Amino acid sequence: MPVKPFKLRCRHCNQPVSWPPQQPRCPRPVCRGPLQPKRNIVFDASLIELSLPGMWRYRHLLPPVHDNPVSLGEGGTPLLRLSHSGKGIVYVKNETLNPTGSFKDRGAAFLINTIQGDDKMVIDDSSGNAGAALAAYAARAGMRVRIFVPAAAPEGKTRQILRFGAELEAVSGGRDAVAEAADAFAQNPDVFYASHVWHPGYSLAMQTIAWEIWEQLGRRAPEWVILPAGNGTLLRGVRWGFRSLQKAKYIQDLPRLVAVQAQACAPLLARSRDAYRPGRFTASPTIADGVAIPNPPHIDAMWAAVRKTKGRVIAIPEAEIVQAQAELARQGFCVEPTAALPYAALAHMEDALAPNDAVALILTGHGFKAERSL
Ligand SMILES: [Zn+2]
Repeated sequence: MPVKPFKLRCRHCNQPVSWPPQQPRCPRPVCRGPLQPKRNIVFDASLIELSLPGMWRYRHLLPPVHDNPVSLGEGGTPLLRLSHSGKGIVYVKNETLNPTGSFKDRGAAFLINTIQGDDKMVIDDSSGNAGAALAAYAARAGMRVRIFVPAAAPEGKTRQILRFGAELEAVSGGRDAVAEAADAFAQNPDVFYASHVWHPGYSLAMQTIAWEIWEQLGRRAPEWVILPAGNGTLLRGVRWGFRSLQKAKYIQDLPRLVAVQAQACAPLLARSRDAYRPGRFTASPTIADGVAIPNPPHIDAMWAAVRKTKGRVIAIPEAEIVQAQAELARQGFCVEPTAALPYAALAHMEDALAPNDAVALILTGHGFKAERSL
């Protein structure tokens, strides 16, 4: 199947970068900005390969990777109607059913398949879902993997990473110190930095969530997509996915994207009110640890994704996160606190929803990952 050339560019300085990138950020030392597609992919439904499982049915629409991709069966998650007494026709996209229990499996699977040179060690800095996902896919590919985590990371979170045979490198200090340690280690030419924060392949893989929703709704876009927003990987990827459908005229309007954060840590809400100062934003602890990101590096792109789709940013108090998690569990959905944010946001959207609006909530991570908070 012929594949059109796919190119990246730096969002800050426009430096062109070929695919797949050898490092996750702009290669110019003075810039090191985020990479993004030079232009959006144009969707073509005739390229969907029905015989391939999960997200790989879209492999000819994604930037090219190996002929026989390493896979654990990621993607292809169900879109299910949810009982809901308020306005809108509400669906959940159940990403908890991915192999390691979170949407990050799509990104980790895709990144593993971009690596050229089997003897490389892959690394990432994450004590959460991204670390577990990369550890699993590196194990599946037979690659060495090292995950950098904060020295104070809870044992429960590191246990899933260790189970897949990953090396753990505990770093003293906050998240920034951990990322710096990973960045320094990645200067070794035998190391591939599969950064879930910086590598554009992560968000590119998240386009498959948009494409699946479109197919599952009978080839149409919902009016709204509501998702948790921490580093913005999912938010940016879902926007790119629906934009690619719009560019090919499969849909007329983009869904309005609603980015949900914890009230204790809501930098994007501050950004939307022009009250965000990079590096100076402080946050309080939250049980929604997947979005406990006070200074997301892609915050401008995240805000653009919300603003350009006429979406919203909603911040949820801790008590409502717990309540939403419990209400989802009473409908049979076991999710971690971060994944309950979109459901909690529904109560804040009654004024915005029309009775027949289709609303897709993305349930990002399984509750088994956070048993103590149930
Ligand atoms: Zn640059």
